[in-house]
This record gives sequence, C-alpha cells and structure tokens, in this order.
Amino acid sequence: KKKVNVIGAGLAGCECAYQLAKRGVPVRLYEMKPGKKSPAHVSDLFAELVCSNSLRSDRICNAAGLLKEEMRLLESLIMQAADATSVAAGGALAVDREKFSAYITQAIREHGLIELLSEEVTDFSKFKEEMVIVASGPLTSQALSEAIKELTGQERLHFFDAAAPIVSASSIDMDSAFFASRYGRGSDYINCPMTREEYEEFYQALVTADCAELREFEHDGVFEGCMPVETMASRGHDTLLFGPLKPKGLTDPKTGREPFAVVQLRRENDVGSMYNIVGFQTHLKFPEQRRVFGLIPALKDAEYLRFGIMHRNTFLNSPRLLDRYYRLEKNPLIRFVGQITGVEGYVESTSSGLLGGIFAACEYLGKPLPDFDDETASGALCRYISGAVTGNFQPMNINFGIMRPLGQRIRNKEEKKTRIAERALEKLKTTIHHFGL
Ligand code: FAD
Repeated sequence: KKKVNVIGAGLAGCECAYQLAKRGVPVRLYEMKPGKKSPAHVSDLFAELVCSNSLRSDRICNAAGLLKEEMRLLESLIMQAADATSVAAGGALAVDREKFSAYITQAIREHGLIELLSEEVTDFSKFKEEMVIVASGPLTSQALSEAIKELTGQERLHFFDAAAPIVSASSIDMDSAFFASRYGRGSDYINCPMTREEYEEFYQALVTADCAELREFEHDGVFEGCMPVETMASRGHDTLLFGPLKPKGLTDPKTGREPFAVVQLRRENDVGSMYNIVGFQTHLKFPEQRRVFGLIPALKDAEYLRFGIMHRNTFLNSPRLLDRYYRLEKNPLIRFVGQITGVEGYVESTSSGLLGGIFAACEYLGKPLPDFDDETASGALCRYISGAVTGNFQPMNINFGIMRPLGQRIRNKEEKKTRIAERALEKLKTTIHHFGL
C-alpha cells in the first residue's frame, strides 16, 4: 500500500504527519536527527523549538493568537502539546520546550500509522510514484537543499536570521531586576531597568560591538521580523526605546516609576531556571555578547546557557512554484510545508503543516480538497504563500493585513480585530463542517 512520505519531524512535519495519520493515511516520516543535526537543533526529540519558547500572543485580537485558535479547531497536535505544557507568560502562550517536544515525540512514535525513519533524505528518486511532503525547515540539510534547487530550478534558497541568548535565572541580579508583566497583567517577566546613563553606555557599546562574520551569502538580506538587536540599534539612538527596550506599562517597585529603559526576560522552562532576553536576537561575537549585555545592570554577571546566533533560512519562491494546495506545479506529487515555503515563525510553520496534511489526506482518500478562505488566518497565510506572484517574495508572519478586510469601518482597533477574528472562527467552523474535516 502506498504511503505518504514526510521529510522532517519538525513543527510542520509532525503536525502534517499527525493530520494524515489521524485520517487513516499511512505515513513514512523521515528525520535526520539524532544522527545529523542542523547548527541550531540540539535535542534528539521531534518538534524542537530552536530559539524562543514562546508561541506568541494567545488573544484572538492578535493574529498569531487567532491562528492558534484556528489550529485548535482543526485539532492540531502541536496546539494540544502547547496547551498541555504551557508556562506562565502573561497574555502569551509559552511552553516548557522539553516537555512540549516530548509530548509530540511520544504522540508520533506511538501512532500506529506513522513509520519513522532516522535518516537524512538527500534526493527525491526513491519516492517514485508516492506522495512526498517536504517539511525540512529553514535549516534544510545541504544535500537536500541542492536536490530542491535542482527540482525547482531555483538558484538561491537562503538568507539569514538571528536568534536571542538564554541566561540562567540564578545569575540574574534580582536586587536590580523585578518581576512584572506589562500593564499590570501579572508578574511573568523579569524586567531589567536601566537609567538614562546606563542606556547611553549600553547603546554606544552595542552599535560599535564586533559582529560574527557571515561567511556564505554575505550580501543576503535580514528578515525584518527577526532583526538583530544591533541592527535595530543602528537605525537610531531611540529606536530600541520603542522596541525591545520600551519601558511602557512597567513600574519599578523600587522607585514607583517607569524606568528610562527596560530589558525583559521571559521564562524558558516551567521551573523558571532559564530565561531568554526578549528581542535580543543577535549576531554579536560571543565574548561581545557577554561584554555588551553585561552593561545591563541585572545581567552584569549573567551566565549564558546559549549565546545568540545568526542562522541560515531556506525558503522557496513559493508563489511561483506552488499551487494553492502546496503542490509543486511542476510535479504535483511533491508538496512543501512549513518555514521552507516562506511562512515565518513556529505558529505559521505549524499551520502550514496542518493544512498541507489535510490537503494530502483528502487527495490520498479521493475526497474534495478544502479551500480555506482568506477570511480565516489559516487561509490568508496559505493564499499569501501560493497566491499572487510578487517581484520580491519575502517570508511572512501572520497578520491581519493579509486577511480579507471587514467591509465596514470600525474605528476602535481592538474591536475591529476582534470582529475579524470572530468572523474567521465562524468561517472556519463552516469549512470544517462542509468538508467533514
Ligand atoms: P523545523 O522545525 O526546523 O523542522 C525541520 C526538521 O527537518 C528538523 O527536525 C530537521 O532536523 C529535519 N531535516 C532537515 N533536513 C532534513 C533532511 N535532509 N532529511 C531529514 N530530515 C531533515 N520562529 C519563531 O516563531 N520564534 C523564534 O524564536 C524562532 N527562532 C528561530 C531561530 C532559529 C535559529 C531558526 C533557524 C528559526 C527560528 N524561527 C523562529 C523560525 C521557525 O519558525 C522555526 O525554524 C520553525 O521550527 C520552523 O518549523 P519547520 O517545521 O518548518 O522546521
């Protein structure tokens, strides 16, 4: 009996395999770990979160929150895992990364219809007449990247992103820092306040610090949504004060006032022994990270459990290559899902894997393929990826701007977003019902 081959047991690949198996479709899931790991993957578990442990906002008036709610309606495995392993993070959904990945790994391993193969896929020849879904992510192995280039006729598949450092909780100076979430919404973050003078010294050090060299693809762009903190700083003296260092909504209990600048640290695990420096994705050299970030008073003796890194991102010019069911137009037996299609982020990659799994399952079972409307966040993202051909296709986070407008003016922004979100959830329920998903 034919199987559907999924390449990569990351966020998209696991969700995709699960959606197929859940519908009775047999799957062969290839994962190169633990034998071979990308520079950012360290765990032997599946669905590893390579940087932040946050799946972003959990409110539906935020587009990432809406996308997650839609995935819950579609019975996403990744969302089940996230909800079961969440850690306190204000209005965001953050997870204990070990428990999160362990939950997913177990669900995949124990599923009778998923056959696991621990090997690197290097070309497509072995799949013959079977369906293939490529979910190998932004750090797709070199050999497979070459095979994809050949398959798609693409010359360039890469550009660069950056990731934030993680410090141990015990090394943070709590005489200087304080617990709070913005606008009094709890106390989930550790906040590191800075005075004007401290900010000044930090800023000068940051914009003159030594960066790691980018060897390959030196002139490729950096994705705006994952901009290194030093790049953001170089845009202007006050830019950080409106970005990751904004003090708004935070009162230092020692002074009773809003500090001049605040660096926020977010929990990495549920016991709270590790924290990441929010928005501090960077490609400063490692000793420079210790020196420059050490100018933040609460981090002067910080122990770095992982330094920030610059990483490669691999993605296709999807609008030119894929149809609206994520099939390669040149060879419809091959699909692409996840970050490699040009969606950006954990949640977006998962959503792409989820829809890809549903499309492939329907096709395998000879059922009509569902169309997800751009009134839904899932559908809007799918259409962005596979829709109109644009000159310079860039990776995209989910946002309300790519969803269909309401068709009526509502001045209050929150209300407008909530209305779009409510419409989306209703629409999705109708689609689920109509196609028997
Ligand atoms: P992945 O989760 O990377 O899964 C791909 C899987 O395929 C991996 O397990 C890999 O080992 C396997 N694989 C690769 N090649 C082969 C092969 N040839 N054969 C077999 N298996 C293979 N997004 C956020 O929302 N927040 C963040 O903080 C964030 N930080 C990031 C930091 C880094 C360093 C990187 C690289 C990306 C980051 N992203 C972040 C972006 C993105 O959302 C994640 O990379 C996400 O994990 C992508 O999901 P995916 O399933 O497409 O790929």
